[in-house]
Amino acid sequence: MIKEILQKNQLSKEDIIHLLNIDNESDMKLLVDKAYEVKENYIGKKSYYRGLIELSNVCVKDCYYCGIRKSDNNVQRFNMTKDEIMQMAKWAYENNYASIVLQSGERADEQFVSFIEDVIKTINEMSNNGLGITLSLGEQSYETYKKWFAAGSHRYLLRIETTNENLYKNLHPSDELHNFNDRLQCLKHLREVGYQVGTGVMIGLPNQTTEDLANDILFYEKMDIDMIGMGPYIVSKDTPMGVDVINKNLNTTEMQKERVNLALKMIAVTRIYLKDVNIAATTALQSLDGLGREKGLKAGANILMPIITLEEYRAKYQLYDNKPCIEDNSDKCKVCLTGRVKSVGETVGFGERGDSPHFEKRIKIS
Ligand code: SAH
Ligand code: SF4
Repeated sequence: MIKEILQKNQLSKEDIIHLLNIDNESDMKLLVDKAYEVKENYIGKKSYYRGLIELSNVCVKDCYYCGIRKSDNNVQRFNMTKDEIMQMAKWAYENNYASIVLQSGERADEQFVSFIEDVIKTINEMSNNGLGITLSLGEQSYETYKKWFAAGSHRYLLRIETTNENLYKNLHPSDELHNFNDRLQCLKHLREVGYQVGTGVMIGLPNQTTEDLANDILFYEKMDIDMIGMGPYIVSKDTPMGVDVINKNLNTTEMQKERVNLALKMIAVTRIYLKDVNIAATTALQSLDGLGREKGLKAGANILMPIITLEEYRAKYQLYDNKPCIEDNSDKCKVCLTGRVKSVGETVGFGERGDSPHFEKRIKIS
């Protein structure tokens, strides 16, 4: 049955659900091998790095699952200075990372918007436009997206988190700051402005079904998405959702393992279905499974996001519990991750931007 599905040129929604419901190792191997074959054909045996700079944990939002949500008074808040950010960007440039990601809690005030604009410009000056700049700074106005694009950033990651609107409502407070349709609109704006657009979902959320996840993959297709970043939901025990999940005994080791497996299946099916997009093997995968990122690469992912945040801030930027690499520094992470890539028989595209082939094709056609 699984073999027949994997031989099809075009998967139906039912096929996708079937694949996401795989529950034995031999079928899992068939799925993962097929995904890897597609990756080899469309991308090659190469992974690309995006150095992740977590520049501030100040956030105006209160997502129920996130460890740096506004209402958590135990979080020690920080804002990096421009000099600190430049120090990390320089490290990435000198170490041939070719791309960085600027990520933070969400803020849309004028001061923040101009700070980021200035940082983007200065990074481009420092690197002679040699560093790809991806932003992951949440929901912003059309004007702000335009401003940051004009300043020289060209990729944007904004996860839709789940495409099931009811589920989305359960994950967020019901107010104007946490509105599903606004988030959707942001993705459309990002495309209009000209970014390579990335989105993704959390996998293994309470009450999330494999049909929801199949709809997520169809959503990536419908929105003509260039980059996908998705990973397992991980409990942050100081959050409303974390408390609820723990109280309902939904965070057993077995269930965490299931979330990792489901995330790997999502990566594999997304690779098979969408073929030429960039897909990240996220740090979240590794925090639930020591070999999670390697498994992600084997399942069809081609992007890794080594944390290059200065050591002193790493522990303060914890979206979920047991974040890996907190004790490490960027040099250590580079050696460690490059070893992990080699261990699966791949090379790192040092010095190459590794833009999404899907984006390049889209630009040529239009
Ligand atoms: N504030 C920005 C970017 C930082 S959060 C934003 O929200 O877009 C980046 C991602 O971390 C979120 O999109 C969410 O999918 C993920 N995240 C947050 N809490 C998480 C958790 N407990 N488990 C797994 N992923 C989580
Ligand atoms: Fe803020 Fe992003 Fe966390 Fe939501 S997921 S609370 S927007 S940092």
